Amino acid sequence: MVRKICARCGRPEEPGRPFIGNLCLECYLEEKGVAKLPGEIEVTICPRCSSLRVQGAWLPPEGSVEETLRAAVEAEILSKAKPNPEVREIWVENIVVGMEDRNRGVARVLLGARFHRGIEARYEAIIPLRVKHVLCPSCLRKAGRAYEAILQLRGEDGRLSDDERREVSRLLRRLPRHLYDTIGEVEEKREGLDLKILDQASARSIASKLRSRLAAKVVETHKVVGRRGGKAKVQTTILVRIPRIREGDIVIYKDRPAVIKGISGNRIILEEAGGRRTSLSGEEFWESGGLEIVCEKEVKVLMVTAITRDLIYLLDMDNYSTLDIPLSKARLAGTLKPGDKVKAVMRSGELHILGKI
Ligand SMILES: [Zn+2]
Ligand SMILES: [Zn+2]
Repeated sequence: MVRKICARCGRPEEPGRPFIGNLCLECYLEEKGVAKLPGEIEVTICPRCSSLRVQGAWLPPEGSVEETLRAAVEAEILSKAKPNPEVREIWVENIVVGMEDRNRGVARVLLGARFHRGIEARYEAIIPLRVKHVLCPSCLRKAGRAYEAILQLRGEDGRLSDDERREVSRLLRRLPRHLYDTIGEVEEKREGLDLKILDQASARSIASKLRSRLAAKVVETHKVVGRRGGKAKVQTTILVRIPRIREGDIVIYKDRPAVIKGISGNRIILEEAGGRRTSLSGEEFWESGGLEIVCEKEVKVLMVTAITRDLIYLLDMDNYSTLDIPLSKARLAGTLKPGDKVKAVMRSGELHILGKI
């Protein structure tokens, strides 16, 4: 028998290196995998009971949400994967599901495959996963009604950025179970996220948590959407606007640069040069029209080279130019010594040093 040589890597056929056609098994798997797999898997799950919708029918949950997701991915793979012509049989050995946020994640699928002459191989595929949250008919019935409220999450000047979407999703996942479970459908829109909430009280409660945690602005409106048995059916819309500022941002507050140290209890905590802390409420923030964020270019990274009785000497770490500033024109944070690196902003002729790095 003529020994085969792999057309890709040039290694010969030998025990432990089986061949599929003119390729060694390793190269074959790298080139062709074992099957044509779906580019993305979409799963619909009930946020209340974790039932799964498979081809139009709702199936009861399989233990935890993660187990349910795994079962869903397995069903999708087995029904949609098209094994390569050389493959006699494929099966799923293991699935690990990792969620990036409530709606998106990836499934790592370990497939087993059998070729002719009993050759077997393992192959790992990573497939993007989209999870849609829709209440199943039984939970919808149990809830006894349709959604009472829509929570619209939007950005400071309209659109919610990708970072803000991620942060909001993270916060929502940390909600207490009884609140999280009231979130039905989550609609991703260009301008933000629309959450459909089972009842008005929960919607308000979620909004108030976002207000406290992010200093969001909350505006509630009502609309009569129909009548049932003579009673007006009201839909509540709660608009939650999320400030653009984040911890660590340098902003201008009362004409002075300050660092955002955090947001909690609907208060924004700021630290000015000199270390003085101050705070403003969410209401004050929105009434003042927000806070100007100092752009990255304006923030200097400086190193203190010397301090005399009336001058501070600094080295600009970006362009290695030197600065000497009268101490009367510099607002310092704590005591500085040569070698300290600091963040600073020049504003109306004064150097504001906003803390060491
Ligand atoms: Zn090869
Ligand atoms: Zn359900």
